[in-house]
Amino acid sequence: PRYSCGPTVYDHAHLGHACSYVRFDIIRRILTKVFGCNIVMVMGVTDVDDKIIKRAHEMRVSPASLASLYEEDFKQDMAALKVLPPTVYLRVTENIPQIISFIEGIIARGYAYPTVKGNVYFDLQSRGDKYGRLVGVAPGPAGEPGDSDKRHASDFALWKAAKPQEVFWASPWGNGRPGWHIECSAMASMVFGGQLDIHSGGMDLVFPHHENEIAQCEVFHQCEQWGNYFLHSGHLHIKGKEEKMSKSLKNYITIKDFLQTFSPEVFRLFCMCSSYRSAIDYCDSTMLEARQLLLGLASFVEDARAYVKGQLICDPVKEDMLWERLTSTKEAVKAALADDFDTPRAIGTILDLVHHGNRQLRAVTKEPGGPRSPAVFGAIVSYIEQFFETVGISLVKQQCISGDSSVATLHSVVDELVRFRLKVRQYALTTPEAAGDARRQLLLERRPLLEACDALRQDLATHGISIKDRSSTISTWELLDPRTKHQKPGS
Ligand SMILES: [Zn+2]
Repeated sequence: PRYSCGPTVYDHAHLGHACSYVRFDIIRRILTKVFGCNIVMVMGVTDVDDKIIKRAHEMRVSPASLASLYEEDFKQDMAALKVLPPTVYLRVTENIPQIISFIEGIIARGYAYPTVKGNVYFDLQSRGDKYGRLVGVAPGPAGEPGDSDKRHASDFALWKAAKPQEVFWASPWGNGRPGWHIECSAMASMVFGGQLDIHSGGMDLVFPHHENEIAQCEVFHQCEQWGNYFLHSGHLHIKGKEEKMSKSLKNYITIKDFLQTFSPEVFRLFCMCSSYRSAIDYCDSTMLEARQLLLGLASFVEDARAYVKGQLICDPVKEDMLWERLTSTKEAVKAALADDFDTPRAIGTILDLVHHGNRQLRAVTKEPGGPRSPAVFGAIVSYIEQFFETVGISLVKQQCISGDSSVATLHSVVDELVRFRLKVRQYALTTPEAAGDARRQLLLERRPLLEACDALRQDLATHGISIKDRSSTISTWELLDPRTKHQKPGS
């Protein structure tokens, strides 16, 4: 069982959210696919709160329609980032009766009190020194200002009496709506009962949100420990700025804007290059580095595959060394992931393998005639692709994943074109029928053909098609990522 605090749906999600959800998606995939865990994941969606009510009022729409608009928007963003959906989403407004009975349970056990104004507060004094265990020290009062009917300043609201013209639900304490912290406790308990394996959320949720969730659940279930693991992701900062990216600070980049420039794969790799706990610096140059890294990986996979197919001619490779490297890489990667999901270490280990693979894949123009080792490169490609597939990064070029028939036709056309170009190029490069001056003369006469071949290669690159001349008799082609087109002209 795993519970994740979900979005408060009143605006577009930004990169800070993206970072948190992508990191936890990676962790979820690792737990499932590497360690074989069966994960039931519940995500709470806060579809009523102060911000939603305020924004809906400004936009003259109902809070419900504003919330459903942005919930849909959130789901689209997550899909675009390849974040797997939770097993279930639970909306606060669809679980009000459950939340009310959860509050009743806390009152009945003596840990909360209603007031004459129709609010219900958690009584922190009754919790004693158990409060503050998650953060280590009990922080000072974090009460919401303006509530004068509390017993103690740090007591927090479980139920908020409705203010005039606010959306409300009937309850034993009068019309009102749930406080934020109680939602997660009640909804998680509704599905998982009194025990939770993993609870995840952003670092900003440690206190007071998660501390309060723990207090509520442990008194409700009368248990010693409700949540076994709390995973908190570090914040995303714009490089050079102190504060985290947030809506209220208006220093954010929306997910949609970001995806205009970079692919979700690049963002995922960027997220994996740091521990999920650590704060992460966002800037364009770091993103460009992540993109280069991904291109480097894809290009290795492509070269290795070309080698397996016999299209890339190399000197004999150190096969035993590569087999050993592959085995030790697999072990080291698994160990890194088992160590608090150390993705940067896992990536570093894989890059090391790629580095050694690349050193053996130096192209030579003449067939050396020595032994070839396609099996080891096949195994390396298969392992690397599988690793990245596990964490949601596809290294497969678009030409392989497209199922569109008109695209398939275009592929055949490019195939024909590349074959034709190869014939012309071969004709321009080889002159078996002549020698000496006559040969030089022939090559000179045929030079415009070679230039035309080069021009075609460059022109096709501007359309995202990259032709590689592997030797005088082999040319291959691939589709460049459209977002990286201008990065690799004619390579
Ligand atoms: Zn929560």
